[in-house]
Amino acid sequence: MSETRIALVTGANKGIGYEIAAGLGARGYTVGIGARDNERREAAVAKLRAAGVDAFGVPLDVTADDSATAAATLIEQRYGHLDALVNNAGITGGMPQEPTRVDVSIIRTVVETNVIGVIRVTNAMLPLLRRSAAPRIVNMSSSVGSLTRQSGAGGVTTTGPVAVAYAPSKSFLNAVTLQYAREFTGTAILINAACPGFVATDLNGFRGVRTPEQGAATAIRLAMLPDGGPTGGFFEDDGEVPW
Ligand code: NAP
Repeated sequence: MSETRIALVTGANKGIGYEIAAGLGARGYTVGIGARDNERREAAVAKLRAAGVDAFGVPLDVTADDSATAAATLIEQRYGHLDALVNNAGITGGMPQEPTRVDVSIIRTVVETNVIGVIRVTNAMLPLLRRSAAPRIVNMSSSVGSLTRQSGAGGVTTTGPVAVAYAPSKSFLNAVTLQYAREFTGTAILINAACPGFVATDLNGFRGVRTPEQGAATAIRLAMLPDGGPTGGFFEDDGEVPW
C-alpha cells in the first residue's frame, strides 16, 4: 500500500472546500480537487500547487453517476486507494424557501446534491477507501440541520431563514451519516458530519462572519482522526452539535 495519504474534497474549487483542500495539503495529503467546472477546477489546482500543495484535478459533478464512477477510476489509476473523502459540495437552492410557497422542484434539486450526491460519491469511493489503513469520511452538514437547534429544544435556536429545502437536506444528511456509521461498525472507517459555522462564501452572498479557513478546521480534523476516534458524530469547532 502506498505511503502517500490521498484525500478527495468535493466542491473544492472555492469556499470552504478549497480551504479544506489547502489545509489537508499543508498537512501532507495529496489532494483531489473535485469540481464540476473545468476552468474553476484547474484554476484552483494551479493556485494550490503554487502554494505548495500536491493537488490534482478530479472532474466531478456529484449529481451524476457517470461522473462519480469516472472520478473513482481516475483516483484508482493514479493512486490505487483513498484515505479521506470530504463530501463538501452543497447548494442552498436559493431563498426564500418558506414551506407554504416553495417550488417543490427546488427541494428535489437540493436533496439530489446535498444528500444523494453524498451517497453517490461515497459509494463510488468506498472500494478505494477500503484499501486505506485508516479511511475517514466527512460529510459537510450545517447546524441548521440540527432538529434540536431548529426547534429550540436544547435552549439554543439556530438563526437563519425558514428553509424547507436546505435545512432539512442537512438533517437528512445527518441521518444518512448515522446509517453509514451503523453499517461501518467493526470496520476501520470513521464517518462524521461537520458544521463549519456561518462562513462568508458564495453560498450566502458572503454574509457569513467566519473565514473559509476557519470553516474548514473541523472537517480537516475529522478527515485526520486517529484510529479509535469518534464515528457517527456531528461536530463543530466547540464540540458536538446536538442532532
Ligand atoms: P460555496 O462557496 O458556494 O461552494 C460550494 C461548492 O460546492 C462549490 O465548489 C460548488 O461548485 C460545489 N458544488 C455545488 N454543486 C455541485 C455539484 N453538483 N457537483 C460538484 N460540486 C458542486 O459554498 P460553501 O459555503 O463553501 O459551502 C460548502 C459546504 O459547506 C456546503 O455543503 C454547505 O452547505 C456547507 N455549509 C456552509 C455554510 C456557510 O456558512 N457558508 C454553513 C454551513 C454549512 P461550483 O463552483 O461549480 O458551483
